[in-house]
Amino acid sequence: LEPAHQFMIRIRAPGGVFTPKQWLGMDAIATTYANHSLRVTTRQTFQIHGVIKRDLKQTMRAINAATLDTISACGDVNRNVLGASNPQRSGLHAQVHDWTQRLSARFKPATRAYYEVWLDEEKVAESGVEHEPLYGDAYLPRKFKIAIAVPPDNDVDVFANDLALIAIVDEAGNLAGFNVGIGGSMGASHGIAAHYPRVANVIGFVTPAQVFAIAEAAISVQRDLGDRDDRKHARFKYTIDDHGVEKIVALMQERAGFALQPARPYRFDHNGDRFGWEQGEDGLWQLTLSLPSGRIADFQDGRPLLTGLREIAKIHSGEFRLTCNQNVIVAGVPAGARAQIDALVAQYALDVENLAPSALARSAVACVALPTCALAMAEAERYLPTFLRVLQPLLDKHDLREQPIVLRISGCPNGCSRPYLAEIALVGKAPGRYTLFLGGDHRGTRLNTLYRDNIDEAQIVEALDPLLGRYAGEREAGEHFGDFLHRAGIVALPPYPTHVRVD
Ligand code: SF4
Repeated sequence: LEPAHQFMIRIRAPGGVFTPKQWLGMDAIATTYANHSLRVTTRQTFQIHGVIKRDLKQTMRAINAATLDTISACGDVNRNVLGASNPQRSGLHAQVHDWTQRLSARFKPATRAYYEVWLDEEKVAESGVEHEPLYGDAYLPRKFKIAIAVPPDNDVDVFANDLALIAIVDEAGNLAGFNVGIGGSMGASHGIAAHYPRVANVIGFVTPAQVFAIAEAAISVQRDLGDRDDRKHARFKYTIDDHGVEKIVALMQERAGFALQPARPYRFDHNGDRFGWEQGEDGLWQLTLSLPSGRIADFQDGRPLLTGLREIAKIHSGEFRLTCNQNVIVAGVPAGARAQIDALVAQYALDVENLAPSALARSAVACVALPTCALAMAEAERYLPTFLRVLQPLLDKHDLREQPIVLRISGCPNGCSRPYLAEIALVGKAPGRYTLFLGGDHRGTRLNTLYRDNIDEAQIVEALDPLLGRYAGEREAGEHFGDFLHRAGIVALPPYPTHVRVD
């Protein structure tokens, strides 16, 4: 008998935008071939889980029929390109979304193998040797990630990416270009100092006409200099730290054929989502809904999220936007259609924002972890509701119910939920045991610090209770939890590159 293999499938969705038709297509795929749920990832796309091997090809064909694909959603190539989610500034967001599409298309592998394997196109071997102009014979040493942020929102956590593009607008409000950052990445290992998370260094500014050249230069430098012997040391951040930022920037400029301009001023306010209704510059409305760890399923506790969002997709004339914080935006809603959407939101209990007991709960992020991630050391998504229930009495006791605090849980140090940028982070170490990190900031510009290692739930609560108490009593006006922990000297920056700076 063959082993009963089952698979996770991840969609390529630059900027996280899906039409209602594509949404319904993914819903049908999830209910036909997967485990009756859609999972919004921190890279702004869908994963489906539990596809058994004999259904794999049919599933891939159904994805193709839904005008979607999975090309470079995994692998040692440029991954799904992230773009700021909230289309409040409609014109700018349309341009940024266009850039996510263009960057994704530009750096997609040229191979036709995907079409051969899944869609029965002509066999690659029969059509001759393929040429990969950028990736060559051996592709990249590791995955490569690009994100575009639109200040003042850093909802994409732009500094967690190998290549960070920060949209800069001119005085007329038009896109002038992008500040460029390099070397962000979350992956780490427990107890190995040589494996660390890192935020990107902002190295300069490019015009829109220079974006492809500088992005290709960054990817090609990593292709040529990245470590191909040790996968744990193969990300662009290590290449940069091993060779020095100056050398990498000089190489990038040489390959791009121009010098970077000095980085331009920008300011981030926060790295979360803005829940509820907002109106865009184009007069259309968008509704941001908080999802539990990005999981869209018909939960048994009276929250039929999969059905509810399906019903919205049936009547929605705009688009859906997935956010990097695992939430969904019903975007492009005419004023006259709001009431109908509100009625569906109420009918299917989609407004988890109002059901979530705290601002912290609404914005919390957790990776998938057990049971579907083979790398997980501890629970994350399945543990988050429990941990939120445990934390709630502390928030109530210290009157912090509506204080936004960034909480993230990862099942292992790979950090798919971007835990090292959170104000409070649990990183799985063993079943029921976590490493507690504290002191990231709410703008996504500073890494946190290991505070307690290998502790259980009771010890986590014991550690957090006095800190939340001190924060409630001693914070300055508008001060966030992570900033307070630093000002109060409770945490200090770790030794590796930890906060964003302009080089
Ligand atoms: Fe990523 Fe680790 Fe979570 Fe798996 S357990 S999803 S590898 S962070």
